[in-house]
Amino acid sequence: MSSTPAQAARRELADFTGELIGPEDSGYGRARAVYNAMIDRRPALIARCADADAVARVIGFARTHDLPLAVRGGGHHGAGLGTVDGGVVADLSPLKDIHVDPVARSARVGGGCVWGEVDRATHRHGLATPSGIVSTTGVGGLTLGGGLGHLTRKCGLTIDNLLAADIVLADGRQVRASADENTDLFWAIRGGGGNFGVVTSFLFRLHEVGTVVGGPTFWPVEISPEVLSAYRDFLPNAPRELNAFFLYGTVPPAPPFPEDLHLRKTAGVVWCYAGDDPEAAAREMAPLLDALPTPMLHAVGPMPHPDLQSMFDGLYPPGHQWYWRADFVNEIPDEAVQLHAKFGAEVPTIQSTMHLYPIDGAAHDVGPDDTPWAYRGAQWSTVYAGVDPDPANAELVRRWTVDYFEALHPYSAGGAYVNMMMDEGQDRVRASYRGNYDRLARIKADRDPDNVFRLNQNVRPS
Ligand code: FAD
Repeated sequence: MSSTPAQAARRELADFTGELIGPEDSGYGRARAVYNAMIDRRPALIARCADADAVARVIGFARTHDLPLAVRGGGHHGAGLGTVDGGVVADLSPLKDIHVDPVARSARVGGGCVWGEVDRATHRHGLATPSGIVSTTGVGGLTLGGGLGHLTRKCGLTIDNLLAADIVLADGRQVRASADENTDLFWAIRGGGGNFGVVTSFLFRLHEVGTVVGGPTFWPVEISPEVLSAYRDFLPNAPRELNAFFLYGTVPPAPPFPEDLHLRKTAGVVWCYAGDDPEAAAREMAPLLDALPTPMLHAVGPMPHPDLQSMFDGLYPPGHQWYWRADFVNEIPDEAVQLHAKFGAEVPTIQSTMHLYPIDGAAHDVGPDDTPWAYRGAQWSTVYAGVDPDPANAELVRRWTVDYFEALHPYSAGGAYVNMMMDEGQDRVRASYRGNYDRLARIKADRDPDNVFRLNQNVRPS
C-alpha cells in the first residue's frame, strides 16, 4: 500500500456509512482512546460503522490489506481488546438503535450501545435485562463474554437472556443466530466473546424489574474476616431476588458519604433486592446484618433500577489506570478469608477494589455445556482490580492486584471470567472455557478459519 490505510480507505470505501478517522484527523486523539488509560495504542484507521454493511466493508478492507482488525463496542475491556496498533478498528459506537417491545418483553439493541442507554429505555416500561454494575460498559463485549451483575441471581447471566443476534461474519455475510437459526453460532456467542463475528444487533428477553432496593453496607476493614465469613455463609441460602456482592474498598471522599467516613477502608456488600415486595427486602437482608456488628454505613433504600446500575459511574470514569485479574471460586475456606483480609486491608488507592460476584441462583439453572460459559457450578466470580487516575501509580496498582491474585489463586476453581481477565495467554483462555474449548475451536474453524477476529480472548481455529 503506497498510501496510508486511512487514505486507502477513503478511496476504496466510497459512500461508507459512517466515519473514517486516520492519525492525521483532528478527532483522532479522542477516537483512539479506550476506557483503560494504561492502553495507549495508535490504530492506522478507525472506522465508525453506522450499519451492518459498513461493518462488512471494514472487515473486507482489513482482510484485503492484511491489517489486524479490532472490533470495539464500549471500549471497556481491561486489556484494550477494542483497539490495535497499526491496524483497523471497527468502532460500533454509531449502532445505537434500541427498540423495546413491552408486549413480547424483549428489546432489540444496537451492537454499539452501552448499558445505561438500554437500562433507561427498558425502565420506561418497568422492564430490564441483567447486565453489569457500571452503566458506561458496552453491551457488545459484556454480553458476548457472559454478563454478571445485580440481577444475576434472579434472572441469570446476560447471555441467558439473549434470544437472537445479527452477526457479520469474517467473510462479510450477514446472518442471524438464535435457537432456530445458525444454532452453532448461537451457542458460541453466548460466552465465546467476539471470536465468531461482529454483532450489530442483540435481542434480549426482559423481566419485570422497576424499583429495586439497593445500595452499600460498609463495615470497618478491621473486622473483615468476620464480615467475609458471615457473607460467605449467608449468601448461598438467600432467596434469588436478593443479590449482594462483597467488596473491599475505600469510602470515597465526597458526598453522599458522611465526612467522618471519608477514606476509611472498608469491607462491605452492595445489595440489590429485586423481589415483588420491596418491604420484604429488609427481612431478607436481616440474617447477615444481625450476624454482624452495626455497620459504619447502611445506605440501602428503594430506587429506580437504572440508578443502582449507574451508582458506581462517578467512581470509575474512563481514563483511569486499570489492571485486573479474576478467578472463579467454589468455596472460601477460613485460610482464604485470612488472606483476603490481609490484601483487603492494603487496597493501595481509593478506586482499587476486590469484588466477589455471586453466580448462583438462576445462573445455575443453565448447564455447564449449554453455553460456552463453563463454570456454572461455581459460587462466585472474584475480581481484583487495581485502579487509579495517576499514571505514576500504574505499577503500584498492578503489583497489588497480581500479589492478591497469586495468593488466592490456589483456592480458585481454575479458570476465570473472560471479561475480567487481562491478556493472559492461551492456557488461561482454555482453563476458562474448560471442556467447551474444543467445541468453540471447531466452530471457529468453520466460521473464521483465518482467525480474522483474534483481538479477543482468542479461541484458535482447530
Ligand atoms: P470492548 O473493549 O469494546 O470489547 C471487548 C471485546 O468484545 C473485544 O474483543 C471486542 O472485539 C468484543 N466486542 C465488543 N462488542 C462487540 C460486538 N458488538 N460484536 C463482536 N465483538 C464485540 N462485566 C460484567 O460482566 N459485569 C460487570 O458488572 C462489569 N463491570 C465492569 C465495570 C467496568 C468499569 C469495566 C471497565 C468493565 C466491567 N465489566 C463487567 C467487564 C466487561 O464486561 C468487559 O470489559 C467487556 O469486554 C466490555 O465490553 P465493551 O464492549 O465495553 O468492550
